[in-house]
Amino acid sequence: MTANYHTHTPRCNHAEGAERDYIERALEAKLRELGFSDHSPYLFDVPGYYSRFRMKPEQLEDYANTLLALREEYRDRIRLFIGLEMEYYPRLFSRTLDFLRQYPLDYLILGQHAIYNETEGIFSPRPTDDEKLLDQYRGQTLEALETGLFSYFAHPDLFCFTGDPKAYERHVRTICRRARELGIPLEFNLLGFQEEKHYPDPRFWRVAGEEGCSVVLGSDAHEPAAVWNPALIARAEALLSGFGITPVETVSLRPIR
Ligand SMILES: [Zn+2]
Ligand SMILES: [Zn+2]
Repeated sequence: MTANYHTHTPRCNHAEGAERDYIERALEAKLRELGFSDHSPYLFDVPGYYSRFRMKPEQLEDYANTLLALREEYRDRIRLFIGLEMEYYPRLFSRTLDFLRQYPLDYLILGQHAIYNETEGIFSPRPTDDEKLLDQYRGQTLEALETGLFSYFAHPDLFCFTGDPKAYERHVRTICRRARELGIPLEFNLLGFQEEKHYPDPRFWRVAGEEGCSVVLGSDAHEPAAVWNPALIARAEALLSGFGITPVETVSLRPIR
């Protein structure tokens, strides 16, 4: 592993450590590229609603400025990128994107933590056997990928479907096939792997292997030490190789303009 594009900062209220400590950890690991992708601010339209797990719009300027200064300071040692992990919420996406575009951001990754517009309260990791919701997750994330604005799809298997395995496979195959056609890598999420969450889901990665998808490892670091965990990476690579998958080392980042 020589690059990681999935790194958080304390602005999301559930990560710890200064940006500099994440960078120093990446240098220790001899990473050549480090991308920060904290949870994106969102311009919600339901009065009084704001999610706790993301930065506020007014924090984006400090996020960008802090990382711009660090990029300059570390320019001879590592390539730093300024990104965000973002959901695709159909009613809110375009106005939020207009807001984000005022800042010097290098890339977005898709992390669909809720479906619809989040304010409906249907969160992807909450187990459900309702195929209608899985279908919504599939349709919504594919619409996101079609925009061409997302550099990769983080934890694509975040949606926790406990219903008919055949339905799961059918929807997941549609996601994998389209991501491959669009040339968008799927992220094998090392945080979920480390914490033995319901993702990475072997059912998903079997299909991704069959469909010949491009796969990238993402640390999803919420603390500096998590930027690079060699034993965990070795286990992930072994598991993926069982599905015929060799992760790519780097991702070409798509501009958001
Ligand atoms: Zn997070
Ligand atoms: Zn994340």
